[in-house]
Amino acid sequence: MAEPSRYLEASWRKRSDEAQAKALNAIKELQANGEPVNFNTVHLKSGVFMDKEGTHMIDLHLHLDGSIHPADMFRLAEMAGTNPGAETEAEMKKKLAVGPDCRNLGEYLEKFELPLQVLQTEECLEFAVYRLLERLHAQGLCRGEIRFAPQLHTRRGLNQRSVTEAAVSGLALGIRDFGISAGLILCCMRGADNQAENMETVAVAKSCLGKGVCAVDLAGNEAAYPTQDFADVFRQAREWGIPVVIHAGEAAGPESVKSALALGAVRIGHGIHAMEDEALKAVLRERKIYLEMCYSSNLQTRTVDAPEEYPLVSFLEEGLCATVNTDNITVSDTDLKKEYLLLQEKFLLSPQTMRQLATNGADAAFVTEEERIRLKAQINREFFSWLDCGAVS
Ligand SMILES: [Zn+2]
Repeated sequence: MAEPSRYLEASWRKRSDEAQAKALNAIKELQANGEPVNFNTVHLKSGVFMDKEGTHMIDLHLHLDGSIHPADMFRLAEMAGTNPGAETEAEMKKKLAVGPDCRNLGEYLEKFELPLQVLQTEECLEFAVYRLLERLHAQGLCRGEIRFAPQLHTRRGLNQRSVTEAAVSGLALGIRDFGISAGLILCCMRGADNQAENMETVAVAKSCLGKGVCAVDLAGNEAAYPTQDFADVFRQAREWGIPVVIHAGEAAGPESVKSALALGAVRIGHGIHAMEDEALKAVLRERKIYLEMCYSSNLQTRTVDAPEEYPLVSFLEEGLCATVNTDNITVSDTDLKKEYLLLQEKFLLSPQTMRQLATNGADAAFVTEEERIRLKAQINREFFSWLDCGAVS
């Protein structure tokens, strides 16, 4: 019968009672099924991290509103004076996460309404960013780039600047308390009549650049609003020297990725449909454009028809710069370690490939060169040690 390793047991002993109980259940189940008991299998089954302490991963693509912990939603609703809309944490989780029946990006995006209802005051925004950094640190991240759209948080009278300043404040507190490296990416939104709001987002990003904000993005329903329609907004961002990342090739084809490059994107959110265009892939390779891939989310929004079609391995083999990200911890019900493990399991990735993906995250991060060197050293030191432990069973 498969027994847990001594590393796994020592790690598990350090966890809370609740986590220990969950891990123990997972171990029993695995044993009963005759399946291997190791860090990866226990984590995938229980959601409890079984590896050694350490921070060795970077999430470059992570939405604030899609990553609010269900438990925090009650606190946020109290702070905002709104009805939480659920009685228990389990009920809340169900409301926030997509189910297996999710059919497209439009349905996926509906899950953001509940968190958006509470993220409308400075206090709530500051708290949400702070708590997310706490969570990222606990999940083994050395850096997180958190994105949100300031224009979606103005329903109760805040302007985009005060929204962003509240998030910056939460970020600074989180960096101080958890020693994590972090930055904010301000999203412009795809829409028919919000150019003024998008221009304001870019203006706010300009004034907060280097003071918590590290880039601008374009998010929202890609299928309904083509990337090219937002050329003016990103021309302004480029003129002001603000780094640009754009969601593209997720719910639209390779043309959308081409438009994103024409608009100045140095990273592409998802970029999955670039797989359909050889010439485009050559450009992505030559220009060293980093693709922020989000496996679970991409499956949930049906970006590919089947997991086997997911282009991670082919992108890597063709010399493209892929990174591993969560997109939305809560909506996708995932975390970064789980994403790495799912990919490793599905595509039989070697430890070297896993580490390459992790260091790509540092290469792509919107940080100073000094910070990049520090992050890479940390990943090199600690990511392999995690993998080494993960291999023990
Ligand atoms: Zn996204």
